[in-house]
Amino acid sequence: MSVKSFSQLQLNPWIIRQLKNIGILEPTPIQQNCIPEIFSGKDVIGVAKTGSGKTLAFALPILQHLVEDPYGIFAVIITPTRELAHQIGDAFSVVGKCMNLRVSIIVGGVEMILQGQELLKKPHIVVATPGRLYDHLSSCNTFNFSKIKYLVLDEADKLLGGPFDEEIYGIIKTLPSNRQMLLFSATMTDTLDQVKAVARKEVFLWQEVATVA
Ligand code: ADP
Ligand code: MG
Repeated sequence: MSVKSFSQLQLNPWIIRQLKNIGILEPTPIQQNCIPEIFSGKDVIGVAKTGSGKTLAFALPILQHLVEDPYGIFAVIITPTRELAHQIGDAFSVVGKCMNLRVSIIVGGVEMILQGQELLKKPHIVVATPGRLYDHLSSCNTFNFSKIKYLVLDEADKLLGGPFDEEIYGIIKTLPSNRQMLLFSATMTDTLDQVKAVARKEVFLWQEVATVA
């Protein structure tokens, strides 16, 4: 497949400029392959090894949607650890700089009440660990999923098929039917494949071909 540039991927020039500012000039293979499919409205499963740029593969189309339609979107990214939640939040904030982007990190170890107040301000992007997000869903009325456009499961292989299943599937059940689900993982697993069963759209699977050194 021919290499596509960020502008060939139809990304907003403003986003491309912001990427250039932080030294990101060409999309990685997972970004080249998954971004057009996310734009086309499909649910996407993207599998590629650590360090291949999975965060921006989902963050860029979400940010682009926000640039085009600042009131109609709300994205939730679920990831297994607090550290990853902060890294993903930082990636959104850096590329979304000057967009008045509101990013909330909803993880354990922070007072529920403070987080509830933050959620009431309707952040554009919520990056969360599954347990704490589910606590907010089940115990407070601060969190309304009805406007969600994207649910991202990052490191999906670690989120599915284990102790988080109750929370994850509980969250998926509350989502509006027109949402897009985006799953990213370093490895393809059976549980990842099973998610197709709960997807309500056509699922596009992109898996990096492993190269032998
Ligand atoms: P993964 O989630 O696949 O492990 P990350 O999304 O964390 O990978 O990205 C790994 C690193 O690569 C980050 O420092 C990120 O800023 C950088 N990166 C992402 N996309 C690109 C790109 N298109 N060009 C150069 N560096 C990139
Ligand atoms: Mg990652």
